Amino acid sequence: MGINNKLKFQCVHCGQCCLDQNTLVNTTYKDILRIKNGLHLTIDEVIEILGFYVFDQPPSVNEIDRMVVPPIQTERGMAFVGLKKKPNGKCFFYDKAEERCSIYAFRPGFCRTFPFRFTIRSDKNKKKSEINIFYTEKGIQYCQGIGEEYPYLDLEQWIKLGREVIQDLSKNNQLIKTWNSKVKIKQILPTARNFILTIFNIE
Ligand code: SF4
Ligand code: SF4
Repeated sequence: MGINNKLKFQCVHCGQCCLDQNTLVNTTYKDILRIKNGLHLTIDEVIEILGFYVFDQPPSVNEIDRMVVPPIQTERGMAFVGLKKKPNGKCFFYDKAEERCSIYAFRPGFCRTFPFRFTIRSDKNKKKSEINIFYTEKGIQYCQGIGEEYPYLDLEQWIKLGREVIQDLSKNNQLIKTWNSKVKIKQILPTARNFILTIFNIE
């Protein structure tokens, strides 16, 4: 039995992934554009819904290499870009009264794929690639939908999603790399506005 075939999960809508104080929802440029277009946001409003989480200690090259979404250079130092949190640590978009996500149709890839992460393994000889699916650390920590009592994953659907997510992350990482290089050679001022403008210009 392959590793993917052992995964059992069903979202029971406990909301923990939206409520956990220590979970930061990363946003790729595609996520930001999807939310911007879905909610018809201006540039100022997009800046308002995002968090630029500055690292206390600048991460090492090795640490950055291991990150799903690398940090960007900002005026205040290296920062991780994600959805803003409310002061109580809940996601900015969590609707407390309804106990659900208020932007469900436009939610980031992170939320679509939680509690999983994906890796890709290419076989050059066979000219094909294989997607492997794993539980994330946070998923194992608190996701109530992981358990023996739940059904096996619909692999076709999750592998398709995994491929899309890996492609999105790869393009996003390229964008961040270009941004950080431009900042380094002082070709662009590392403000939040300029970063979002760079993303808007992709459209
Ligand atoms: S965007 Fe929606 S699904 Fe994602 S963490 Fe926030 S409330 Fe939850
Ligand atoms: S923590 Fe798991 S079960 Fe709870 S809402 Fe998130 S994905 Fe669903």
